[in-house]
Amino acid sequence: MTRPQAAFHVHYDRLWEWLTELIENRIADIKANKPETEWAIRLRLLQMIPPDRIANLIAAREQFEVDRRSLLVQLDLEMASNPAWDVRSLLDQYEVARSFAWEQYKAAEKATDMAALHQELCPDCPWDGKTIFPKGGNDAA
Ligand SMILES: [Zn+2]
Repeated sequence: MTRPQAAFHVHYDRLWEWLTELIENRIADIKANKPETEWAIRLRLLQMIPPDRIANLIAAREQFEVDRRSLLVQLDLEMASNPAWDVRSLLDQYEVARSFAWEQYKAAEKATDMAALHQELCPDCPWDGKTIFPKGGNDAA
């Protein structure tokens, strides 16, 4: 499993997000699907967040994935070994445990000052808390 990677401004209306594919694919997507007038700002602002600056957050994200997979394996085993078992109850138990693991991850996210990191790593950024196109008028999506 590759380690989770995060980037600033993958999309115009998100400060940062976990990458679900290579950043090169997002760059190609911008050039293929966004107005050429937006390329410069989008490509200037799109940047990987150095992993060493969010090490705790990456570890929390990985832990969530480990927990989630482990819970799914448990769920599978219980359903296979108890075919007559109340499936709804097993799924509810899984959901409660998964939500708990997710809340632990979200606590790590809240504890990470992404706004301060952004301010340091993304100088002269037009981000206003909602968009990289704060003046409006751009048909961005
Ligand atoms: Zn920025």
